[in-house]
Amino acid sequence: MDNLRLWNKFLETIKPIIGTAKLRTFFSQCSIQSVEENKITVATPHAFAKATLNQQHLPLVEQIFADLLKKKVKVEFIVKEGNTPPQSEEEVFFQPVRIQTVILNPKYTLENFVVGPSNNVAYAAAQAVVQNPGISYNPLFLYGGTGVGKTHLMLGIGNALLAKKPYLKIIYCSSDKFMNDYVSAIQEHKMNSFRAKYRAADILLVDDIQFFSGREGTQDEFFHTFNELQSKNSQMVLTSDKAPQEIAKLEDRLKSRFAGGLMMDIQPPDFDTRVAILRAKCIEQGTVLPEDSLKLIASSLDSNIRELEGKLIQIIQNLKTRNLMPAPENIAGFLNQPLKKSNGIDHKQVLSTICSFFNITLKDLTGPKRYKELVLPRHITMYLLSEELNLTVERIGEVLGGRDHTTVMHGRNRIRNLAVSDSGVQRMLIEVKQKMTTS
Ligand code: ADP
Ligand code: MG
Repeated sequence: MDNLRLWNKFLETIKPIIGTAKLRTFFSQCSIQSVEENKITVATPHAFAKATLNQQHLPLVEQIFADLLKKKVKVEFIVKEGNTPPQSEEEVFFQPVRIQTVILNPKYTLENFVVGPSNNVAYAAAQAVVQNPGISYNPLFLYGGTGVGKTHLMLGIGNALLAKKPYLKIIYCSSDKFMNDYVSAIQEHKMNSFRAKYRAADILLVDDIQFFSGREGTQDEFFHTFNELQSKNSQMVLTSDKAPQEIAKLEDRLKSRFAGGLMMDIQPPDFDTRVAILRAKCIEQGTVLPEDSLKLIASSLDSNIRELEGKLIQIIQNLKTRNLMPAPENIAGFLNQPLKKSNGIDHKQVLSTICSFFNITLKDLTGPKRYKELVLPRHITMYLLSEELNLTVERIGEVLGGRDHTTVMHGRNRIRNLAVSDSGVQRMLIEVKQKMTTS
């Protein structure tokens, strides 16, 4: 690559990270002076530019060059008065930016992941992956029961990598999303763009891979994606509710590929870790509860952190609305009642809340009409009936006017994923739940 092309690639890469304004201010009048074995010299127009670049941007600049050249390089800024880039600004700056930045839910980080005996080994593996993506453990396969923190840890890895290298192409998807993308690519004859999309990933995060079970076509396609990414050292992190060997109807070659990386299980948290998690979640909620109260709550639920968190939030709200001190005696009564019944919600209430929230009729919601506007309300209903009321997918199908259980599963899973990845849906869920508990 000649110096000019290298510089243009560099500008293209740094632009989405530092923004156009800074790009103009600091880099518009720079150019590559020379490229030696492990050193790049960049000419800047004056001493002030040089000093600022050294102070504020050197590590990032070196990192980007290292990535472009695939080797470690030092960058030196020198002053070359009256330096002007050998190409007009227009051409350099308005090249289309190919780099896609993704937004992963920032709520899930490695910093706010509470570490205890149940998850410390998996956590250490996550850190190793962040240190050396694509090299140490590829894929990292995280498995364990519901609500033990698999998605949190996976997105924590993604967020840490993005913080280090914002220009990495990270793809995060549920196995469902991969499957649906694949099916529509076939139907719409867009296999090329499907492959281009997934195989271009620097980091691929696939959640709940157990849903690949029995999907032969998808498994076949994923196998090829996997090989391609592995051969170019793109890091993959996969999660599942069970170890690969235990996933039914999963091709042996995928099982052995998964097992070829690092498999890490996450166990349900022990009592002390549950207390630590509750303490951390209180801080996130902007509240402090006394230790005995935390211990009381931690002892009432034993495995699922999602439920633990849900219960904590309900308790905090309840204390606030009743204007009570957060003492154990005020919480004990609340804990004795089962979570779901404590606010007496039944499925009719969920349906009516959804209807009033989305301003639709019950007939719309449960009827056969297939309008686009009805899809999201129906899916959210499926999700809430499953997560909040623990109804079976078959029962949810009945409640929603006789829908098939696979339809219900699809809708519920879609919202489960959006609840992690889409802040609009997150907000909606919070509002609907609040309405449900206060109406
Ligand atoms: P899974 O994917 O295993 O079903 P999640 O990663 O979605 O579980 O975790 C469920 C909830 O519990 C999330 O809100 C997550 O932030 C929280 N959680 C799980 N493990 C931890 C942990 N070790 N520290 C802090 N929060 C956690
Ligand atoms: Mg998950």
